Amino acid sequence: MENQWIPFHLPEIGEKEIQAVLEVLKSRWITTGPKVQTFEKAFAHYIGTSHAVAVNSCTAALHLGLDALGLKEGDEVILPTMTFAACAEVVQYFKALPVLVDSLPDTLHMDPEDVERKITPKTRAIMAVHYGGLPCDLEELTYLAKQNNLALIEDAAHALPAFYKGKKIGTWGDITCFSFYATKTLTTGEGGMATTENPQWAKRMQVMRLHGMDQDAWKRYSHEGRWYYSIVDAGFKYNMTDIQAALGLAQLEQVEAFFQRRKTIAQAYTALLKDCPLLELPEEKEDRTHAWHLYVVKLKKEQLSISRNQVIQKLKEHNIGTSVHFIPLHKHPHYQKAFHTKDEDYPIATDLYERILSLPIYPSLTDAQINTIASTLRDILEENQR
Ligand SMILES: *Cc1c(COP(=O)(O)O)cnc(C)c1O
Repeated sequence: MENQWIPFHLPEIGEKEIQAVLEVLKSRWITTGPKVQTFEKAFAHYIGTSHAVAVNSCTAALHLGLDALGLKEGDEVILPTMTFAACAEVVQYFKALPVLVDSLPDTLHMDPEDVERKITPKTRAIMAVHYGGLPCDLEELTYLAKQNNLALIEDAAHALPAFYKGKKIGTWGDITCFSFYATKTLTTGEGGMATTENPQWAKRMQVMRLHGMDQDAWKRYSHEGRWYYSIVDAGFKYNMTDIQAALGLAQLEQVEAFFQRRKTIAQAYTALLKDCPLLELPEEKEDRTHAWHLYVVKLKKEQLSISRNQVIQKLKEHNIGTSVHFIPLHKHPHYQKAFHTKDEDYPIATDLYERILSLPIYPSLTDAQINTIASTLRDILEENQR
């Protein structure tokens, strides 16, 4: 019998989340307010950081982070080609240059040697992406940043929760940015958070996320607030709503339980697929923990008579949704046109792109579904072995 459609992702939305959102709606304070403050405090406490600044996306957090770090027109920011559009687009908001770096073949992180090669006098920051939820080699990147007087901004859209050498992600670099997009490990529908130890950067992000109004401007409609505000810079409209924050608070209570379930799923996939010679499986590293936002397998395409795209199509015919993370930035028309990026300049990422496949991994995925996904994938690969 055919299984029912297994989506690539389903957010965990339970009665807790629904009640939390209803409560905010009933309170009639629906935009930025007390829930956002509570969420920021709870998130900062969970991460173990001094400041957490809530915004309406991780993209906004990255933009505000670069602004706080003082990025200027003509500066360069080093980031991986194997990432989502957000990382490089925010650099271009400043008329600064995103400098793309090739991947490491095992972890798909950016290659620190390529980072080092690409540092110039114009480089201002390194943006590290904890691909899939496995932290990058932060010691090496921190060393490179310190040596060259660069800021280190982390894209932790996949890395809640994760640890590197016993320190939680969100407490390592200068500024760390989290995503609460619908598919991420904690969701507010849309949303993001920037964490930092630096009070000046936190303050700057707080001001710039709401039109450049001086701090706590959101209170101007509350009993304790006042109508007057001053605009200290041309800011942005990046504030998080209390509706989102209520959802986030309800999710934060369960973030460890969600993580444990994803970890169990990852272990189950690994147990079911580890003796399949047509696949390479994601690895853990001793000095870090994996958030298991993604479970990315690599197809051994030399041994297969079908392409990765055909594997995706066949899985879909078997009612299994999968995805690809990511189409490397250098392969997109904008980057080819604006920065003349070529496959030859990113040989590892170009090769990986044709082999990677992200399997469903989310708490409500059942053991039966995990078995179906693993056995269907094996069957498809074995039937199309060269
Ligand atoms: C999802 C994602 C983002 C963007 O997050 P938003 O909250 O949608 O802005 C940034 N970087 C990476 C690596 C992502 O996966």
